[in-house]
Amino acid sequence: MPAVNLNAQGGFLQRSCKLFELFCMLCILVVFIYYLDAFKVISNSNPTLNCTSKEDKVPVLEDLEKCPETSPLLVGPLEIEFSQPVDLEDVKKQNPALQLGGRFTPEDCKALQKVAVIIPFRNREEHLKYWLYYLHPILLRQQLDYGVYLIHQKGDETFNRAKLMNVGYAEALKEYDYDCFVFSDVDLIPMDDRNIYKCFSQPRHLSVSMDKFDFSLPYEQYFGGVSSLSKEQFQKINGFPNNYWGWGGEDDDIYNRLSFRGMTISRPDAITGKYRMIHHNRDTKNEPNPERFDRMANTRMMIDRDGINSLSYEVVEVKKNFLFTEIQVDIGTPS
Ligand code: BGC
Repeated sequence: MPAVNLNAQGGFLQRSCKLFELFCMLCILVVFIYYLDAFKVISNSNPTLNCTSKEDKVPVLEDLEKCPETSPLLVGPLEIEFSQPVDLEDVKKQNPALQLGGRFTPEDCKALQKVAVIIPFRNREEHLKYWLYYLHPILLRQQLDYGVYLIHQKGDETFNRAKLMNVGYAEALKEYDYDCFVFSDVDLIPMDDRNIYKCFSQPRHLSVSMDKFDFSLPYEQYFGGVSSLSKEQFQKINGFPNNYWGWGGEDDDIYNRLSFRGMTISRPDAITGKYRMIHHNRDTKNEPNPERFDRMANTRMMIDRDGINSLSYEVVEVKKNFLFTEIQVDIGTPS
């Protein structure tokens, strides 16, 4: 029988035990590191667990670089059609970056402008759904710091588009320090996301090439549909007229105001400025305004008397959801 070397066997056992011990310690270390990492994730998402101050961790807006002049997210021409119904719950899910009130601020760069999008509104729920469905993804890609305000005329008095837009300007400014205002009809959808919903050195007419007008301007001074004015430009013309009740003329009055104050109109080219309009019958209580020609003849006289300085209205209700802020407003009756 061969002699058993007990010394050698003991040494082998000792080395094995040491190795096993080392292996166990390594396992414990790995588990500990995982645990720490998990805690870090939880504490970052839960402010109550986070001991460091917010300023230490989250990049503050001032630290962010400015967004580029041209957003890299733009895709150009878009297919726009209105055959499928829109479910607003889906729109909300498709745009998770939106905050309450239809607000958005880019996370990784500082937006170049703070834009309030103002929509004068009454009884056009179906159009609004399409507007939200198409516009939010476009505005997000344009990297704007923006909010959507639906200015809902209460009651069934004749519609007053320009006065509602004045209300939108005043109410949006109560919420945030906007420096640009885009005024949009609810039934107009841009067909190209390079048509940026921001302000320029001159007032901007965005809806220059509408299908309704065979993709061209109906006349050179046309300023209807969708336009944008900086706060400064808006103030220079004392806002919009409050006394155009019913369809027509108010956009021509705004054009006159701008030119009387020495401004010119900036426009995108006819390809970038293409729009689809959602077809509809004429709204009741928005019949052509027979007084519009007289009013337009008096713009020069009225510009300093009638506008944001003479605006009076009563807010009935403010409702916020994730796609827009709705301000229901009593704007009175024609005087
Ligand atoms: C009206 C404008 C309108 C334009 C295009 C003009 O006669 O005064 O308000 O936007 O036609 O329809």
